[in-house]
Amino acid sequence: MHGFVHAASPRRLFAWFLITTSVGVAGLAWLMWLVVRDDAIEQRDRALDGAVGALQRTLARITEESRSMTPTFTVLEFDQALLVRRKGPTLPYYPSAPAAAVSDDAPFAAADMAEFAKQNVRVALTDVESLTTGQAANVRAEAWLRMARLERKLGRFDRALSAYDALSRFEDIEIGGLPAGLLARQGRALVLEQLGRESDLAREADRLLADLVAGKWVLTRQAYDFSMMQALRWQPQPAADVPRDRVMVADAVASLRFPPAAQATLTTASGCVFAFSTETAGRTIVGLVPMTELYARWMSTLGKTPRGIAWTLTVDGRTVLGSPDVSSQTSAARFPPETQLPWTVHAVSTASVFAPSALTPRARILASAAGLMSLMLVGGAWFINRAVARELAAARIQSDFVAAVSHEFRTPLTSIRQLSELLAGGRVSTDERRGQFYGALLRESDRLHRLIEGLLTFGRMEAGQQHYLFEPIDTTAVLRSVVSEFEPLAAATGHCVELHAAASVLRVRADWQSIGRVFWNLLDNAVKYSPECKTVWITAEALDQNVLIRVRDEGVGIPREEQASIFQKFVRGTQATRDGIAGTGVGLAMAAQIVSAHGGRLSVDSHPGGGSTFSVVLPGLKS
Ligand code: ADP
Repeated sequence: MHGFVHAASPRRLFAWFLITTSVGVAGLAWLMWLVVRDDAIEQRDRALDGAVGALQRTLARITEESRSMTPTFTVLEFDQALLVRRKGPTLPYYPSAPAAAVSDDAPFAAADMAEFAKQNVRVALTDVESLTTGQAANVRAEAWLRMARLERKLGRFDRALSAYDALSRFEDIEIGGLPAGLLARQGRALVLEQLGRESDLAREADRLLADLVAGKWVLTRQAYDFSMMQALRWQPQPAADVPRDRVMVADAVASLRFPPAAQATLTTASGCVFAFSTETAGRTIVGLVPMTELYARWMSTLGKTPRGIAWTLTVDGRTVLGSPDVSSQTSAARFPPETQLPWTVHAVSTASVFAPSALTPRARILASAAGLMSLMLVGGAWFINRAVARELAAARIQSDFVAAVSHEFRTPLTSIRQLSELLAGGRVSTDERRGQFYGALLRESDRLHRLIEGLLTFGRMEAGQQHYLFEPIDTTAVLRSVVSEFEPLAAATGHCVELHAAASVLRVRADWQSIGRVFWNLLDNAVKYSPECKTVWITAEALDQNVLIRVRDEGVGIPREEQASIFQKFVRGTQATRDGIAGTGVGLAMAAQIVSAHGGRLSVDSHPGGGSTFSVVLPGLKS
């Protein structure tokens, strides 16, 4: 019977639960992952379409703006490859200076003659001075430049400086391919250097640098580089910085091929520039926008980008804007044929799709639902597992009970059989011995009788069919009767019972038989669980309106953690089973049930090794 509940069963069951639950939870997680990923992909696709639209609008607006007089980016107008007009921010240098008026040397023939052939600087100076008035602007400008040079030659530096001042008023007029303004500044600086006026020189050089950086004049790359070098020699710590974007655009212009493509991304050492061109009336108009500026305008048109997405533009697989890492795993793309844009637009997922910030509201709801369901699944599995474990434990307890009962029966039956055999065989010689044997036979059959009665009563109680016949009785009388019946049994193991009852009559309303069984069970336990100390005590006294009966022993005692459970049916103490003390585990359960049916209370006070005291409190009757 005992083996019928397998020890491995609960573990196997638990394993099954674990497997089925894990499979369930894993399935849910997988579904969840699919949904969240699809959601993220959908969201990214939608965002990408929005971004493409915004970029298209940005380009349209830029093209529109290039026609205005003051675009925010550089617009250049070319005749063939020759720069004829510029709008928007100036550049430090250009591919070609505007076609210069062919310089006219004729007016200066006499002056040159005087200076170089005749070595007469003063005559040359008078000649040149006469040309500073009443001539064409370019002739006048050149006259001032020559004057300044001649004055320097004569060592008249103050006059040279004022000649350069006069020259600077011609600003953009070109002399030998260079603007008058630039020549005037350089000339002044040279004079100041010659004079050793260092602080004045530094100031002059600063001004020159500021003008160069600001793109005040239309210079070729060569002229710009040379002027820059010269200025930096005079002023090694310039106040103004060269704007990187302008240099970038200037470099991009230098790389333009004519005729330029309608839309192109030009790559320079310092970054990429978007160039677009239109043909009007034989002229080529080119707009140049640094990609960084284009990005800023694109983003302000787009408004908001969902979190966890970054934009990248590529041309033929080469990144011109954004992150160079564009794998098909983490990004979606729209290609030029469908968008009419010069780039492939990529939406790159920068965060994991499971990052809380990247989740869409729908995905967030789904995630919570899946989480809740997993929790319920795990919780449900745990409860079922616990219930099954409990059932199994109960089954084990019951099978233990059956084994204990069989054992209980066997002991008196064996004794009865042996005694009967001896008596029947006429092998007991003296009457005295025979008398002892009959007495033993009586005790054993009585024990068997009580055992069966007890189990039957327990069965009735379990079935709720135990009926009590309540009547006023005297507690002391019941105790006396129980003790006198119990004493012979106790004596068999050498125990004695001491009864102390109060002198007064202690009346209770009770069922004589049942309440007697309670005291019997308690006495029986007291004797069973005190193998060393051979005395057990039973006392009765009045306590307020109640009657208190105590059964005390000085036996093995009960561990604290078992003191509550021993009142449950079939539960036996660990020491009882370990020491092989006979018992079925129903005695205390029955006693507790009977006492509570009488409106009373059964409790225990015990210390392991120090004995136990079971107290029964019954409501008293006024006598
Ligand atoms: P059993 O048939 O095992 O005696 P009971 O229901 O009468 O069943 O008692 C339950 C358990 O309580 C016992 O197995 C024993 O461990 C413990 N117990 C009961 N009475 C005593 C006692 N007087 N001293 C020590 N342990 C006791």
